Amino acid sequence: MINIVLFGKPGAGKGTQAEFLKEKYNLVHLSTGDIFRANMKAGTELGNMAKAIIERGDLVPDEITTNMLIDAVNENPDAKGFLFDGYPRTNGQAEALDAFLESKGTEVTATIALEADDNILVARLLERGKTSGRPDDQDESKIRNRYQEYNEKTAPLIDYYTNQNKFYPVNGIGEIADITERLSAVIDQLEPKQVWK
Ligand code: AMP
Repeated sequence: MINIVLFGKPGAGKGTQAEFLKEKYNLVHLSTGDIFRANMKAGTELGNMAKAIIERGDLVPDEITTNMLIDAVNENPDAKGFLFDGYPRTNGQAEALDAFLESKGTEVTATIALEADDNILVARLLERGKTSGRPDDQDESKIRNRYQEYNEKTAPLIDYYTNQNKFYPVNGIGEIADITERLSAVIDQLEPKQVWK
């Protein structure tokens, strides 16, 4: 089983790349942002609780997010591996993910980061906001708030995974297919480390 954390700032291209990688490596793609948006659209209790937080560009509390992620993993008992997109985003989430995967007899195989300059990413998000319908993409101050959340709470995970020898930075600027190749080059040299117990 390989479990990949796709890491990067908002707009770095995690969702776009995940669409290619999940097919290529037969992984279940779990995007916490997508799961929250599906819940908001369906008007579930979880969606209603998270809506205002997400629209401000803040992070949803760890406990809510982690419980949702664990449920999503458990809904896929036959998975050959997972592609985590947008999770973990805090140290607490990374620790919770490690403990949960360990309880399943597996682990994060690698964290692959799509790297790009903030100014390019903000411009990209504002462009995406014209068609995505996402309120958090349409206002530069909300986008800047998401970057502040990233810098304060998510960037420390670079050290967290580097200390575990699992952090692989990749240049996230270029043609989509070229970036998929760069990510694949990392994945192809990973040994599948664990299987479900
Ligand atoms: P994304 O689609 O990954 O950009 O996520 C959109 C929004 O959902 C984020 O700005 C957060 O408000 C919320 N969100 C998604 N994933 C997480 C997470 N792992 N922890 C906390 N909040 C999250």
